[in-house]
Amino acid sequence: MTVLNLKEIFERADSFESRYLIGPESLSFPADLGDLKEPVEVYVRIVKDNKDYRVFLNIVGSVELECSRCLEVFSKDISQEKEKHLSYYPREEHVALAPEDLEVSFMEEPDLLNLEDLVREEIILSIPMKPLCSPDCTGLHHQALLFEEEKGAPHDPRFAILRNLLAR
Ligand SMILES: [Zn+2]
Repeated sequence: MTVLNLKEIFERADSFESRYLIGPESLSFPADLGDLKEPVEVYVRIVKDNKDYRVFLNIVGSVELECSRCLEVFSKDISQEKEKHLSYYPREEHVALAPEDLEVSFMEEPDLLNLEDLVREEIILSIPMKPLCSPDCTGLHHQALLFEEEKGAPHDPRFAILRNLLAR
């Protein structure tokens, strides 16, 4: 776990930057969303902003997802650059979020940044609700149908019906 003590860091410096390689076992990416097989490379730069911090993230990596149409597993590039506003609010305090606050992340404890949590959050946000292996994926039924045709399968009336339905 990579926890940065920002208070300590900024007692000595005006800004912080570093590069990390976060392995799948440290990132604990939710398995029902996808499969993170390779380490994710993260470049992070932090500057102070009054009591808060601004965090610039550059994430490079990919995750294996299942296409929501044809169910094929494909690799999705999750590389991205993000600027986050890092803030601390005591848990009991009621916080109303305005739309512009969506780029705000909260520290669970003042001045402590858990890098894995932040990176995991960004990767999850970048994964589509219905992942597609390609924008024009034709889906499972159509593929099965093509496969039957390629094989030169004996004529099956069910496929003819399906084909007609798909052709509409
Ligand atoms: Zn697909």
